[in-house]
Amino acid sequence: MKNDTIAIDGPAGAGKSTVARLLARRLGFLYVDTGAMYRAAALVVERNAVAFTAEDEITALIRSARIEFVNGEGDTQYLYLNGEDVTEAIRTPGVASLASQVSAIPGVRRALVALQQQLAVSGGVVMEGRDIGTVVAPDAEIKIFLTATPEERANRRHAELAARGNDVSLESVRADQDERDERDATRQVAPLVAASDAIILYSDGQTPEEIVEDIVAMTEARRREA
Ligand code: C5P
Repeated sequence: MKNDTIAIDGPAGAGKSTVARLLARRLGFLYVDTGAMYRAAALVVERNAVAFTAEDEITALIRSARIEFVNGEGDTQYLYLNGEDVTEAIRTPGVASLASQVSAIPGVRRALVALQQQLAVSGGVVMEGRDIGTVVAPDAEIKIFLTATPEERANRRHAELAARGNDVSLESVRADQDERDERDATRQVAPLVAASDAIILYSDGQTPEEIVEDIVAMTEARRREA
């Protein structure tokens, strides 16, 4: 396979992370979870107790923060913030909600998009997020917009959180999801939207492995057409 970027965008709970991780493993590509970077930015804001209106101050804090992916055993990946492992700390519903607020700040997006573009500079990357096909990598070799019905997505998130020992109700997961979807889709900068040349896939009733096979087949078909 040619060294390039595969963009996977879509709303929360569509199964993007599992699919992107498996796809990266299958292709021997680097996996980049851009949502984790926005979550780390949320942690910076939380820890510094800055008001959301202080956009310049927040942008400066994010610019000076060190947000790095560190590879562990096999294909495990950790996220470090200023040298501290925050892989688990960023996975709470509170941080997710904060991330969707912090990610609406244009300066924060500029800082993180620049970092993401650096990670993709040598190609061979599966990058997952909300604006990869539209903003971060508009020249991506293939763009997938992975989605699912809101019920399916909430069920999946609920099961994921339960597996981490997080005892939240399905109703509260669904309410958080609806709020986050609305905010991500309506923000001024880089809203959650499928790129015009993205392939839209529904993950309802499909296993991650089946979706990965579909994406590999589509990529190969594209190459034959090129
Ligand atoms: O994907 P994840 O749920 O971890 O993302 C957390 C939040 O980060 C999203 O709700 C969204 O607001 C923001 N995000 C973004 N752009 C990306 C990835 C995530 O705005 N490329």
